Amino acid sequence: MSTSDLQPSQPIKAEIRLRHLETAARAQQRLGKMLDLPLLMREITLFLVETTGYQRVMCFVHDEANHQLQFGALFGTEPPKSLNHTFISLLQQDQDDIFAHAMQEGQSLNLSEAVLEGSPSIQYMKPVLQPDNGFALPLHQQRLVGMLLFDHHRSEPNHQKEDQELLKAMSPTIGIILENARVHSKTVQELAAKMRELYILRQIDRELNDNVQQDHVFSMTLDWALRFTNASAASLAMYDEESDQLRYVANIGYKIDHEKMNESQSSEINTMHRVARNGRAEIIPDLTLEYDAVRFSGQMQSQLSLPVMREDRVIAVIGLESKKLNAFTEEHLDFLDKLAARAGVAIDNARLFDQTAREGEKLSGILDNIADVVIVLTHDGRIVLINQSALAALHMYGTADDYIGRPASEVFEDSPLYEVVRKAVASKEGMITEIPLTAERTFHINISPYAKVGWIVTLHDITPLKETDRLKSELVATVSHDLKQPLSVMHGYSDLLLMRPSLDTQSQNYTRMIQRSIQNMRTLIDDLLNLARIESGIQLLPQPVRMASLLEECVANVQPSADQKAMTMTMRVPEDLPPVKGDRSYLSQIFLNLISNAVKYTPPEGKVNIWAERHNDHVRINVQDSGLGISPEDQARIFERFYRVRRSETESIEGTGLGLSIVKRLIELHNGQIGLSSQLNSGSTFYVLLPIYT
Ligand code: ADP
Repeated sequence: MSTSDLQPSQPIKAEIRLRHLETAARAQQRLGKMLDLPLLMREITLFLVETTGYQRVMCFVHDEANHQLQFGALFGTEPPKSLNHTFISLLQQDQDDIFAHAMQEGQSLNLSEAVLEGSPSIQYMKPVLQPDNGFALPLHQQRLVGMLLFDHHRSEPNHQKEDQELLKAMSPTIGIILENARVHSKTVQELAAKMRELYILRQIDRELNDNVQQDHVFSMTLDWALRFTNASAASLAMYDEESDQLRYVANIGYKIDHEKMNESQSSEINTMHRVARNGRAEIIPDLTLEYDAVRFSGQMQSQLSLPVMREDRVIAVIGLESKKLNAFTEEHLDFLDKLAARAGVAIDNARLFDQTAREGEKLSGILDNIADVVIVLTHDGRIVLINQSALAALHMYGTADDYIGRPASEVFEDSPLYEVVRKAVASKEGMITEIPLTAERTFHINISPYAKVGWIVTLHDITPLKETDRLKSELVATVSHDLKQPLSVMHGYSDLLLMRPSLDTQSQNYTRMIQRSIQNMRTLIDDLLNLARIESGIQLLPQPVRMASLLEECVANVQPSADQKAMTMTMRVPEDLPPVKGDRSYLSQIFLNLISNAVKYTPPEGKVNIWAERHNDHVRINVQDSGLGISPEDQARIFERFYRVRRSETESIEGTGLGLSIVKRLIELHNGQIGLSSQLNSGSTFYVLLPIYT
């Protein structure tokens, strides 16, 4: 046995023991706080040269993962070749390797020539060491932490022996110090690696988030995977769970493109496919042992495939290959998992974007082929979409692309469309109206707010409808006029009938009923003629109109009917109410109608209140009654022509259903507004807003 005995051969005197303790304490004091591993190793060698007769000390640290002793520092005569990057492998350790065995066992060793010969692990150090007084001291701390090599002792063997005893006594102290520094340096390294990974992941996040184009996302993902793993080639295939198909969409580092990869995919299941199905990553350290591996390059030796998931579904697989054996580690996998999670989101986003863009194209294709004008504006009035019909209807040159992104105020500056859009946008509520876009064409326009985009403007050409309407009005006017004549004759003759003394009471009643019906028909015809006239376009003569006197006249007019039903009517108009701008005769018609409706649709002894007030730059006139009230469904329709509410209470009340539609038309012609609030059986309040005369 050539290993030296750990037990001192002679009893250590108390004095020597004290010296050992003192030296260990000095070592602890000087080296104990050093955490920088290379510096510490250098200091250890220096300290040991100072405290022993050895003139050269080398320090090695144990690399457990690779089973080797890694050179760290040397103090003393430099060997002919630098020892940096040198290591002593303990891997092929067998019982015959004296050095490796002793180190593993924690036994120090005198490195005689015979020992070196019997230790393949350290044999190659032979030219470096001075064999006669070479000494190896393992540093053990439950396990092997490092090793110290000594040679070039300056005095006789006796002294050497003493020094060795001292070193053996100190080895636990140095072992702890080295272990501490090693743990610290490992932690620092791990932390640095984590920081690097975090930094890279942040950069990946930024790049992937900024990109919505599928191709970019694919190649960026592969690029990052290659960079981090140093692999030789990478590919990405999308996976369709339903059809169980893999479709290569990108690759880097192969001689064939991804289309060719798809063509050369065999029916056999390859690793990528297996990973897609199982959702679990696979590392193949040696491809030569895998028979089912599909090869896109003969040079590859190892492979890593991992799934890209999105909400528990595999959507793609990333494949990495290396020309080196065993090229992929758990650390790589750990990072790639994080990359894949990010890629999953980005690929999905890119896919959605692609889909949306395609849908968008489809939609604009459809919009371009419909006859209606469609324009979409952002909240701040920029054009997002404009279809072909819009360009044609508005006589705009060029293509839609020439207008997209431009402000509507600039593009439609000279068109009547702009004024309507501006008003609608200002009102924040949208608008439905008619506009003559050009001299010969009239459009029905609908501007509605759309929270997510801004405003949607649709225009429908109603020129043909307008023409039919005009013809119908003409017809109604002519026919009505022609009807009036025979009605007058009928009325005249019925008057004559009533004058005959021979007419009995019954016949008199019949004749009066005929007369009432004639009167109703006359009212209807008058209303029809009125409406036809208004619709064919009447000319207003706007002037300042004082509402107080106008309303007084109307009330006076209706008073007899109110008196008949024992109703009370009140009227309140502030003295300083400004005049409204309007045509007096038409305004009279409006309020006469509203007030007589209030009386008509209120049961006897009810109340009608009329009052006017200023409302910003308008005057608001309210006509309130305590009558029948109008249901919400009927409220929506009472301004339609001929619409009359059908209720048992209204059956006996005569009317044509035209009054309110005439009123509404007239108010619109005055740039005013009409509205109402009403509750069934508790009365109604109609209000009219008319602009103040300025
Ligand atoms: P009509 O000639 O029938 O009075 P209008 O156009 O003036 O026609 O009114 C339409 C319908 O609206 C009426 O038939 C009536 O049912 C309802 N209406 C109008 N004014 C009132 C009111 N003040 N109270 C209750 N219902 C009313």
